[in-house]
Amino acid sequence: MSFTFKMLYNGAIMKKIYIYVIGGGLLIFLILLLSGFLPFGFNKSQNECRGASCQPVQLVIDVKNSGLGSAVYIEWNSITPKPSSYALARATFDGNNLSSFQSIPTVSNTRGNFAIDYDVQRGVTYEYRVIPIYGNSFNLDGIAKVSGARVTADFIDTKSEKIVFVIPQKYLEERKDLSQIIPSLINGINFIFSNTQKQFSFAEIKTYNPDTCINGCENIISDSKYYNTGALVVYAIPGAITSAYTVRGAPPTVILGNESLNLANSGNDLSPNSGFYSSLVQTLAHEIAHTYGVAIPEYYVYPTAIDNSDISPKIPAVSLPTKYLKDVMYTYQDNFKGTSFGPLSVYIVNANLYHSDLRFRSRGLSDMSQILPSRIAIKVNDSISKPVVSSKVDIYCIQAEDPRYQGLHQQPTLVKSLSTDTSGTASFTIENEVKQSMSAQKCHVLGFKVSKDGFISSSNYVTELQLQEEKLLRKNDEFLVQFTLKTN
Ligand SMILES: [Zn+2]
Repeated sequence: MSFTFKMLYNGAIMKKIYIYVIGGGLLIFLILLLSGFLPFGFNKSQNECRGASCQPVQLVIDVKNSGLGSAVYIEWNSITPKPSSYALARATFDGNNLSSFQSIPTVSNTRGNFAIDYDVQRGVTYEYRVIPIYGNSFNLDGIAKVSGARVTADFIDTKSEKIVFVIPQKYLEERKDLSQIIPSLINGINFIFSNTQKQFSFAEIKTYNPDTCINGCENIISDSKYYNTGALVVYAIPGAITSAYTVRGAPPTVILGNESLNLANSGNDLSPNSGFYSSLVQTLAHEIAHTYGVAIPEYYVYPTAIDNSDISPKIPAVSLPTKYLKDVMYTYQDNFKGTSFGPLSVYIVNANLYHSDLRFRSRGLSDMSQILPSRIAIKVNDSISKPVVSSKVDIYCIQAEDPRYQGLHQQPTLVKSLSTDTSGTASFTIENEVKQSMSAQKCHVLGFKVSKDGFISSSNYVTELQLQEEKLLRKNDEFLVQFTLKTN
């Protein structure tokens, strides 16, 4: 027996639903219940076939843009008997016709009835069909008899990204105010990001039980990636490291290890003006910015390159972060409102508004050869701005070591010696040969020493951070280093 009826979804869409009734009214009731249970805004459809043999089965398929850039989220209802897995098929729809269906990777039923399709293009309309698989054999012959659901792939909001918080259940039980505190952290993150084009919104809090998760709760992160349609912040059990990563095909994920203790400790004051709160907000903003390619690795914190030579004048110790004192990638302030992002960080965040397309993944402590402009010019004036002719310009490579290995700084290596011309300028073109030589010397900082009889010698340095900023922000392919020489 079969019958047809109509239903009003979300007060707007009339849909015709065919239901093959085996068990009578109870089944209809259950299906109505399921349909009404699904969130607003989903496209719903009924799946009428079971596999190639086209036995009646009721699958409600919901599709929507995931909010993660170019990804579509597909969900369907559970059915009994439980299939061994589901087959997903996808076609494109041009407004009139459907293309032929292609199978996309199947989903194990142990994971539940969800899938995220990351291989979509913006503006293209896709139709998804889902077929439960019983046993091993499956083909797409019966796909025409199965109804599906359509969605046009879009970046839901280019400026806003949802964040899902994943925390141990016991934290929520031990302090009930966390359900208010956690969503409020978004405001702080948005404050720090306010000089970028990126903002965030709160999606939901999901909980897990650390006592039952596997391998340091890696399974929680893995499952969360699978089920969630927003960037993930995972409060991991203390002991896990704090980190952030983006892998194409998975939501960007921030894992907070020992920082989770701030949440877990019910004695901590987490009111918005407290130090703990400020620290939580800044840690989150810092880690989230990493997922946009900012400061990978932590180049802002590489502190010094020391000139160990006995050559006068000494090149001053390099401190990369001095230009970016308030950048949350480098420093934490007592109040999160004292932090922001420096121009280079802002540029990288804005250039990488979508995690799926990291165009400017910034370099970490690389060698200069990767980011050198094609020319470097040195301009030398005296204290009344007149060019200093025939001054000697020595250019050195200096290694800036990871702070963990301080003390290993090596002697600067002389790259080139030049002499200023009548305009007080010396310049050189960075040829491949020079780049290779710099790369071999692990040159992280360029040191410049300028001297001439009758003047006090001077020195300066150029870091890869400066060069990167110059190239990216000002799109300048000639780097200028200026000196003012004072007389004795
Ligand atoms: Zn970091």
